[in-house]
Amino acid sequence: MIFQSTKSEDKLAAETVKQLPLSSRQKLCINPAVARLGSLSAINDRCTELQQSKSKEKCPFMPSAENLKQTHEFRDAALATIPDIEDLHRIGKDLQVCPYYASRTAIPGAEVITLPYPLLLQKSARDALGIKLEGNVVIIDEAHNIMDAVANVYAAEICLSELRKARQMLGIYVKRFGKKLKGENRVMVAQIGKVVESLSECLNGQLGAKVGLIFPLVGPTRLTSSRASKASSMRTPC
Ligand code: SF4
Repeated sequence: MIFQSTKSEDKLAAETVKQLPLSSRQKLCINPAVARLGSLSAINDRCTELQQSKSKEKCPFMPSAENLKQTHEFRDAALATIPDIEDLHRIGKDLQVCPYYASRTAIPGAEVITLPYPLLLQKSARDALGIKLEGNVVIIDEAHNIMDAVANVYAAEICLSELRKARQMLGIYVKRFGKKLKGENRVMVAQIGKVVESLSECLNGQLGAKVGLIFPLVGPTRLTSSRASKASSMRTPC
């Protein structure tokens, strides 16, 4: 939750607090063909696809010059009440304008903004929304979940087969271009190799794989030595 300071604080006593909840496309999408996809990533991907200049189809609810009046009405309605996510969805549906994007027009006028962890924790997301933390009060509800939320925002999923493939590709790359790499690049490639190898060891350990399944890709010393390209080799695990 973010409290934004405004210049008209003296008017607060007489006015309703301008509160705005922000949420994901999954909760706010009003395009039936997109909303029915269900998962957050599928809805995000489809919405982004529809906005590509190459896309023949466009989402008719996206705020634009054609529906500027509805977008302004949405902003005013959102700030005139204390809406929850369902209210924003309903207002957007009534006005036929996307609540996910139209909510952004209400951000500058809002005094209290509630938003999910991912939008708060990622600077890129805050920048896209025009939200600045400096000079504002941030209240974190259910703060015991913050570490998990940070991990979720910055975590990536990877499986053992992808790591094996990465090792294989890295081995081929080193074999082909090892001699041409500059010192710094050789070190970086070796570091990637070590990371891939360590992650593979970890996953193999978790899977209870037999000792000996891990095949060394190429150690940093070997890659950075003058005979690196000859020494580097790759064996595909069974
Ligand atoms: S612009 Fe809004 S309504 Fe249209 S697909 Fe994206 S999230 Fe859904």
